[in-house]
Order: sequence, then C-alpha cells, then structure tokens
Amino acid sequence: MIVMKFGGSSVESASAIQRVASIVSTRLERQPIVVVSAMGKTTNKLLSMAACAVNGRRAEALEAMEELKRFHLNEAPHAADAIAGRFLELEEILKGVAALGELTPRTIDLISSYGERLSSLIVTDVFRTLGMDAMHLDSRSVIITDRRHTQAAPLFTETYPRLAATITPLAQSNKVVVMGGFIGSTLDGVTTTLGRGGSDFTASIVGAGVGAEEIQIWTDVDGMLTCDPTILTGGHRVKTISFAEAAESAYFGAKVLHPATVVPAVERNIPVLILNSRRPDSPGTRVIADRVPCRNVVKSIACKRDITIINVTSTRMLMAYGFLRRMFEVFDRYETPVDMLATSEVSVSLTIDNPKNLPRIVEELSQFSQVTVESDLAIICLVGDSIHDTPGVAGRIFTALKNINIRMISQGASRLNLGFVVSADDLRDAVSRLHAELFSDLDPDVFE
Ligand code: ASP
Ligand code: MG
Repeated sequence: MIVMKFGGSSVESASAIQRVASIVSTRLERQPIVVVSAMGKTTNKLLSMAACAVNGRRAEALEAMEELKRFHLNEAPHAADAIAGRFLELEEILKGVAALGELTPRTIDLISSYGERLSSLIVTDVFRTLGMDAMHLDSRSVIITDRRHTQAAPLFTETYPRLAATITPLAQSNKVVVMGGFIGSTLDGVTTTLGRGGSDFTASIVGAGVGAEEIQIWTDVDGMLTCDPTILTGGHRVKTISFAEAAESAYFGAKVLHPATVVPAVERNIPVLILNSRRPDSPGTRVIADRVPCRNVVKSIACKRDITIINVTSTRMLMAYGFLRRMFEVFDRYETPVDMLATSEVSVSLTIDNPKNLPRIVEELSQFSQVTVESDLAIICLVGDSIHDTPGVAGRIFTALKNINIRMISQGASRLNLGFVVSADDLRDAVSRLHAELFSDLDPDVFE
C-alpha cells in the first residue's frame, strides 16, 4: 500500500485531475490510497465567503458561493448532482451565519470542509469514469480529532484502528480509496479541520495508520533543491534527505513540506516522497528517518526574506537575571515568533518575520532597554547534519562571502544548521557564492 496525496494545484481543474488519474492508474499494483486537497484556491474562497456572510454582506457571500459552484460544475460536469447537493447545504449554512451575525470556529470548520468534501467526490467520479475501481471515503469517519476547531489534533488511538480496519481491506482488494485531506471529526461527529495545509498531515496519518510502505506528496515542484529557485536558478535536486534536515529547511523558508505534518510518518519509519504532478517521471525527493551520509557537508541552502532584526541593549543586563524573560514576554504578548537569536553580555539581537506589532514591541522594550531595528534583511540557513562536526566549514563559508556584510550568525542548537542574516540586497549574491562553493562537486548518491 502507498498513500498518494495531491495538493490544491494538482487538482485545480478537470485537466489537472485527468493528470492525477493517469498518475494513479500507472501505480495500481502498489495499492494506492489517494488523499486530495480542495481544488485550487477553494479553501481561501470558502473562508472569505464565511467572513462576508458574518459581516452583513450576505448577497456578496452568496454570489461568491454561486461562482464557486459554477467553477466546480464546470470542471466536473459528471458529478453535477453531488456538487449541487453540497452547495445547497453550504447555502443554508451561509444564510444562517448571515442571519445570526455569528461565526464560531466550529462553523468555520464546517464551511471550509466543503472544499475537500467536493474535491474527493469529484476525483472519485473521474477515476470511475476512467474505469478505475475507485471508492470515496468520508475522512470524517476515520480521522478523529479533539475539539480544537480550525487547528484540531488527531486522536491517534481512535484514528489508527479505524484507518486500519476500514482502508486496509479495501486497498488489499484493489479498490482505490479516495479521501479528502484536512478534515476530520470529533468523537461525537462534529466536523473539524487540521489547520491550513492540513492535507499533508492527513496523508501522513493515513500512511501511518495503514502501515503504508511509502507516502507520496504530489505537488508542483520537483522536490527539494539545493537552493531556493526563486532566488537562484540552477540548483540541483536533492535525491534523499533526512526528516531532521527537511524539517530544518522548512522552518527557514523551503515551502515544500511542513515538518509537523510528517511526524506520524517518521514515527513509523515510512519514507515520504515529494513528487511533481506535472512531471511525474521526475524521481523527486525522498525524505527518510535515518541520516543520509553525504560527501557535501551542506545539503540545501534555505532562505527567508522580509526579516527584521531587533537589537536590545541594556547595561543593566550585566550580571542581572530575569532580563530575557522580561524581553520575551513582550514578544509573547504581541504573538510575534522569534526566529533567530544571538546574545552577548549586555545585548540581544533577534529576528522576526512578522513586523505587524513592531512599533508596539519596540515601545515596550524601550521602557527597560535601548532598542534599534534593522529591516530589509534575509536569513540564509545552511542545512546538513554534518555541518557541526566537519572542521573548516565556517572558514569556507565566510571566505566565500568575503565582501558581504553579515549581520548576525547563529549555529542552531538543532546541530544541523548554520544560519546568518544579510541585507536583502545581498541575498542573491550571497546564495550564488555559497552555492558555487558548496555544490561545485556533488555527491552523486545524494544530488542530481
Ligand atoms: N485545503 C486546505 C488548505 O488550503 C488543506 C490543504 O490544502 O492542505 O489549507
Ligand atoms: Mg496545500
């Protein structure tokens, strides 16, 4: 058994779904279980019509709903009845939200669940018309979660036995089970969702529950590259990377895989493949639990743009305790995550990527320290699990960057990254020098 997950862009239209069908149909002997996201940008649209309805813009909400309905009918005319039925329900719910002027997280989940409920029905239907023995499964009957609406956590001890009992016999009798990602339900049957981007999580939970031999995440990129293609072209495909390394690159900008979503797969030692549904023959990237030995000390250069550094200095910090707590309480109060941190005896520098509350943060910090702010920066993060025990790495890196001003350095506690901050204007130049230094001679077992 394998789990094949197709994201929103892989199922965004009739022709995209045809592509998915042909990918699945050439892998039937591996007993695929198919998990799909909502079509294209459907989830965003559902959430915005809900917001419209609750804000008294009822007609606008219903018009947006009609448009989404036309889109689904247009891309999937065969499934017209099923689609119309779901939209009738959705219309009732939106009218209710508008009438009450109230939108609870529970109702948000109900509304946003329609994206995956529709796409999974449509994909099942297309598979069937092409002669596949496909069967739709309502994920809400097997993915059982707690009640934290919009961000629900699966209850594994409830979910795993249900998955094994329901899906395994179907897959083994060569039925192609198709289910929506992202959605689940509480023990008493109330619809929940796993958080935005949750379909990868569903795929990983399903894979773990049925003991799949592999989980395939089909997206629109060729897997992980040695550098971010939006910054530098000519990066090499990373054939294999460890979960720990993939997670580290994801924290720092690589959007390919959200680290938390693969935890169930890691725990059961199931490899996760990242594949491109527009180039299905490209072998993608394999993410595995074990270390991946590699001649190159760095496996990937991840970047994060729009970074701000806040420098906090206090002479009172010298020999004092409690300063860091006081400082972090400010970030806590304004719900602003801190990415990177460096301290000396009297000063702390830290980076944030969400400047929404920056003025208020600065104001509060200024009450007990001197604060300066630098913006238009970028983090470059080198990921590779032998960075820390290979002598001379820092020397090579900083020599390669010789004319570039490095604003902050952090060698993470995770033991597999080396990160630093440069000006946004220097980002491309810095990445290209590092890439030339680190990837001119490639380990053919790891890169292509
Ligand atoms: N459709 C959901 C979202 O857009 C889940 C997903 O695509 O993974 O967040
Ligand atoms: Mg997605």
